[in-house]
Amino acid sequence: MIASENYISAAVLEAQGSVLTNKYAEGYPGARYYGGCEHVDTVEELAVSRAEDLFGAEHANVQPHSGTQANMGVYFAMLDPGDRILSLDLNHGGHLSHGHHVNFSGQLYEVEQYGVDPESGYVDYEALADHAAAFEPDLIVSGSSAYPREFDYGRIEEVAESVGAYHLADIAHVTGLVAAGVHANPIGNADFVTGSTHKTIRAGRGGMILTTEEHAEAIDKSIFPGGQGGPLMHNIAGKAVGFEEALEPEFRAYAEDVVANTRALAQVFTDRGMALVSGGTDKHLLLVDLRDSHPETTGQDAEERLESVGITVNKNTVPGESRSPFVTSGIRVGTPALTTRGFGESEMETIGHRIADLLDSPDDEELTAEVSAEVDELCETHPIYE
Ligand SMILES: *Cc1c(COP(=O)(O)O)cnc(C)c1O
Repeated sequence: MIASENYISAAVLEAQGSVLTNKYAEGYPGARYYGGCEHVDTVEELAVSRAEDLFGAEHANVQPHSGTQANMGVYFAMLDPGDRILSLDLNHGGHLSHGHHVNFSGQLYEVEQYGVDPESGYVDYEALADHAAAFEPDLIVSGSSAYPREFDYGRIEEVAESVGAYHLADIAHVTGLVAAGVHANPIGNADFVTGSTHKTIRAGRGGMILTTEEHAEAIDKSIFPGGQGGPLMHNIAGKAVGFEEALEPEFRAYAEDVVANTRALAQVFTDRGMALVSGGTDKHLLLVDLRDSHPETTGQDAEERLESVGITVNKNTVPGESRSPFVTSGIRVGTPALTTRGFGESEMETIGHRIADLLDSPDDEELTAEVSAEVDELCETHPIYE
């Protein structure tokens, strides 16, 4: 139930594990620095055109090795060291690559952060607008790793325009939901859209950048030769296959199920007296804030308690966090991987109640054994790869 994880299909797995890993193909289709690129050109052209179709983008670059490198590609294309970035606070759901001081992005740029309203748990757009007017950033990042609500991309674009900043929408977590049309698409409201290809979209590990014709050349140069050498052609083949799968109507049904499953889980947690950041969820993950319902239980305790029965979640900071990021007061719970395995709302209700039982009775060993057996059975009846 790690919100950023998923299971790729056997076809994507085969592409990612293919002989294409052997090929050097620095450059882009039709303009490589190596001979013998006929077939990898076909592969990359397919991945690019499918990405453009899926998201309605004018230009896609499918070479970033990861989501972080996609963001680096945008920063290096558009910013100079010392330029200003305004992004969501890590404690409020942001990402290291949005300017955290331990990451290159925080070391090269001057970064300030916006946050969520402590009462509602939603991004405080008024405060964001005021902050942007005062700070005059060169680039505003929308997007998150642990924010359970949709972003209002139109609103952030207005703010970006009002201060002359670029708008980068990092959709790493929701790439599949955006592709399926069950989450707002920032194309048209952002100059750049970056993402990972292995989270809610099941296209294998990697990254991508979507942009307009206007910025296409700058982005391509920034990825290669600017920031990377030879592209990972096996991963690009995985992206081509995964994007094709995401264009099928079944994928839309999958994405709808992901959201329905998360909502079912949210309902159980709420019924069991647990607080959720923002009171619920619009997407594939939710954040449980344990401070009121389980004041003695840290996020770390909860993660360990659940792991002892085979349920994997991650501890997560919550808005207004007072504990360290290694301890935390919350857990992040996601449904994309379980949904891929065929878990539906009734299984989510079972799992939700069992999670609540385990947190309510941290020392009950009989319960541990009982839930462990139930988890084993649920996994056996929902195999990942046949
Ligand atoms: C996961 C994530 C990334 C980085 O992805 P990697 O592929 O792990 O580098 C970037 N931005 C956000 C918002 C993410 O959630």
